[in-house]
Amino acid sequence: MSQDPALDPALPVRVRFAPSPTGQLHIGGARTAIYNWAFARATGGSFILRIEDTDPERSTAENTQVVLRSLRWLGLDWDEGPEVGGALGPYFQSQRGDSYQAALETLKARDAAYPCFCTVAALDAKRKAAEEAGGGYAGYDRTCRGLEAHEAAKRIAAGEPFVWRLKVPRERGAIEFNDAVYGPVSFPSEVMDDMVLVRSDGSPTYNFAVVCDDANMRISHVIRGDDHLSNTPRQILVYEALGAAVPTFAHLSMILGANGKKLSKRHGATSVEEYRDRGYLPDTLVNFLALLGWSLDGETTIIDRETLAHSFSLARVTKKDALFDEVKLDWMNGTYIRGLDAGAWAALAEPWLCQAGADPAGIAADPGWYEKLYPLVSERLVRLDEIPDKLAYMFWGPRVNLDEASVAKVLTKEGTDAETVLRGLRGLLADESLTWECEPLQEACRALAETLGIKVKGLFQPLRVAVCGNMVSPPLFESIELLDRKDVLARIDQTLKDVFHG
Ligand code: GLU
Repeated sequence: MSQDPALDPALPVRVRFAPSPTGQLHIGGARTAIYNWAFARATGGSFILRIEDTDPERSTAENTQVVLRSLRWLGLDWDEGPEVGGALGPYFQSQRGDSYQAALETLKARDAAYPCFCTVAALDAKRKAAEEAGGGYAGYDRTCRGLEAHEAAKRIAAGEPFVWRLKVPRERGAIEFNDAVYGPVSFPSEVMDDMVLVRSDGSPTYNFAVVCDDANMRISHVIRGDDHLSNTPRQILVYEALGAAVPTFAHLSMILGANGKKLSKRHGATSVEEYRDRGYLPDTLVNFLALLGWSLDGETTIIDRETLAHSFSLARVTKKDALFDEVKLDWMNGTYIRGLDAGAWAALAEPWLCQAGADPAGIAADPGWYEKLYPLVSERLVRLDEIPDKLAYMFWGPRVNLDEASVAKVLTKEGTDAETVLRGLRGLLADESLTWECEPLQEACRALAETLGIKVKGLFQPLRVAVCGNMVSPPLFESIELLDRKDVLARIDQTLKDVFHG
């Protein structure tokens, strides 16, 4: 278990990832989820998933599924939350209305909230006037804070629309907290106005709902993106008003693209599922994202999930912005691909093998054959989506798709006699007494080159083009061994016919 200054031994660690399901899970959100997960695992605490689905237009069931699917794909398991349950649920904000109502009652009982009848138009006019006067808008002017209780009750009974506002104590000075990443942070009290907690339609605002949930779910550490840093002092005021313990906050720096700007769509893929579809492994993404702001020892780059889950600590999270380096991501993915065993590779590669031409039923029937493809490409793959391009020739059956440039360079170049070479190979490979395995095939071909009086390369290259379609395919005889003899012969026949009209 890691030692962390943000840890109070008396308090069980409970952290949460609280996405608003408004579309894809972005990699910034994924990093937040990874840090929360790893912190819970490293401290023996609980990782809670809470869906903040308060925007009825964007928070669709499908969007929630995207988030759950992305987290599952990353291998981040949650101890409480959707589909898992837990004692402090429900874990969807849309189902927690009663708890917000109860919290409002608590605030009322503590004289920490008041109804406000100021209309949007009136507030806008005040804001505009303040801005025109040059002083800037100092927040809500507390017009309704002084209303007598019976007066307010009368207006409510008369059906006048109103919101509930937080009664920020007048004597409350600067709001200070010790962020586990940023260190001491201080916000002057003047910038904290009596914010709205409950809207006129009865719905809670984000800052109110999130505090109610974090308090009720006994969250010990709030680890989230630093876009929420300015919400934190407001949330602290709500904790105080409720009489609830304030958790430790840890805000995570921004992730920047290669151009130094906040990572966005313009940098290409930004969501977990886009990276999945581009052939990155979940292990790669977890490792890579974990290093965007955290380090094990300042130098180790390949850190498996178990090490992360064991060693993560907030003390090693930096407040410096993190750079998303695609080159490093590709390098790391290649490393993880090389580290797979053939069975795991075949399972992960299945969608791309199917794109290359494999039949899913064939994979199920003979997984061993597909596993043998792994050594053909393991050293060359950076991403799994390169599989269709690199391995399509294994699924052509008796046909070969000849690459024109390779034909020109290898088969029809002046001074070569590839036709004779291919005819010789055709005869050799048709000999049923030749064992259809890499070594004997290669030996027989070498002997043939000698008989023909040509260099080995002068024989291997035409064979490669005739069987694999181009000059740059993966290892030739290892490939041929996995193909059917009759298909290899048919491909040579087709090449002779198409290129030499023979
Ligand atoms: N639902 C918020 C978001 O997706 C996160 C709230 C929080 O972490 O406090 O940005």
